[in-house]
Amino acid sequence: MNDCIFCKIINKEIPKEFTFESDTIVAFPDINPSADIHILIIPKKHIPGMQDIAKEHGNLLADIYRVANNLVKQYNLSESLIRVVVNAGKAQHVSHLHFHLLGGNWKKMV
Ligand code: AMP
Ligand code: ZN
Repeated sequence: MNDCIFCKIINKEIPKEFTFESDTIVAFPDINPSADIHILIIPKKHIPGMQDIAKEHGNLLADIYRVANNLVKQYNLSESLIRVVVNAGKAQHVSHLHFHLLGGNWKKMV
């Protein structure tokens, strides 16, 4: 049984308003934001983490960064401090690959 919280959100078992959704990717605001804008960009496929990324994920990764670029435009972040962060190992708390897009004023590290 899969008790991954992000899979549950993606499968709509847990309600969440998506900032973006495609066949392969969702994005929604982080529940505990580290910056003015803090959005999680997540592949729908359950890839546990950075160390599980393989060549076959190339198009998916390009699409994730394209979503990030579009969100930067949507939220007018171009002139602010922008970071895309992937936590891994002991820095990662949810074991479903996700990309933190952060922009605007920073409050803390992710
Ligand atoms: P990480 O430490 O990189 O695994 O980050 C996991 C992130 O998921 C944290 O920044 C949490 O605040 C965020 N998070 C956990 N549960 C939820 C949720 N239900 N909705 C939105 N963000 C969440
Ligand atoms: Zn998952």
